[in-house]
Amino acid sequence: MSLLLIGGWSEAERDQWLGLLQAALPGETWLLQSPNGAMETAEVEAAIVANPAHGSLVGLANLRLIQSVWAGVDKLLADPDLPADVPLARMVDPAMNEAMVQTALWAVLSLQRGFFTLQAQQRERLWRPPTQPRAAAWRVLVLGLGELGGRVARALATQGYALNGWSRLPTQGVGLPGVACVHGEAALPAALAQADTVINLLPLTAATAGFFNAARLAQMKPGSGLVNLARGAQVNEADLLWALDSGQLSHAVLDVFAVEPLPAEHRFWAHPRVTVLPHCAAQTDARSAVAVVVANLLALRAGQPLQHPVDRQRGY
Ligand code: NAP
Repeated sequence: MSLLLIGGWSEAERDQWLGLLQAALPGETWLLQSPNGAMETAEVEAAIVANPAHGSLVGLANLRLIQSVWAGVDKLLADPDLPADVPLARMVDPAMNEAMVQTALWAVLSLQRGFFTLQAQQRERLWRPPTQPRAAAWRVLVLGLGELGGRVARALATQGYALNGWSRLPTQGVGLPGVACVHGEAALPAALAQADTVINLLPLTAATAGFFNAARLAQMKPGSGLVNLARGAQVNEADLLWALDSGQLSHAVLDVFAVEPLPAEHRFWAHPRVTVLPHCAAQTDARSAVAVVVANLLALRAGQPLQHPVDRQRGY
């Protein structure tokens, strides 16, 4: 049997993955592109994928595992030809978790202390110290309390921020000390209305596409900030521009966009209230992520449960 490594990696990234996997699993046969002919097709036991082109996994009759090296599987699930009955697992990488916490801390700290404004003032040679509220007086709402959102909320609470968290289901037992958690649609307007900074870490699903539309942005506290670290399709960009232009929001930190790379002519690039990041809030680090892939391949062969399985009905 063979293992297929396929997706939108650069050659260097793919070679790094291949080297790490070969070192961890010597003696395996690796395929680096769509199988060629019936023989190779029948041989593929598992596919390790980085958002491959739609249709890439068609016809693999003996495929038993699709392992994503990305945390978000929205693009994968949007493939109409994704094999329906094959278990799908996603990436939860310790280094990626740590990077996401760092990005969220930087964004919240910059908004609370006015550092984005100070950067703009430097370009104007303006010496104007800002008002700097204490962390305890700065309320942050984290949307999505999973692997990433849960860690971000915990880390911000540890830094002394006033923390709210929102998820689909109650979070009893998850262990988020210092985080006031609510769940469900009904609880959202009040949570949005109180937050100085809203951080989006929801997965992209049918329920969260277009989540930040004019109505939701209007529910946010006037002058608050939005930090989108999840997916661009969760924000209606025209509505966000309205919210920023009107002063309803004071700033947006955006790591993800409806179209990536962000087109050169997009208004976000030069907007004084927008900080643009090139989808780098938290990247998978192959050096630590390889252990997750290896563990799942071994679990598959041992007939044991997979780590981080995706619930296709839920969409994450
Ligand atoms: P996760 O562990 O699956 O957690 C998802 C969280 O969102 C859960 O708390 C879930 O609540 C909540 N949720 C889902 N749908 C909801 C809804 N309709 N209403 C309210 N809450 C809802 O996901 P994760 O690992 O934290 O990752 C989150 C997302 O981050 C990924 O899907 C990906 O898009 C994005 N991401 C971005 C980057 C980047 O560099 N920008 C890197 C990695 C990941 P329940 O548990 O109650 O269902």
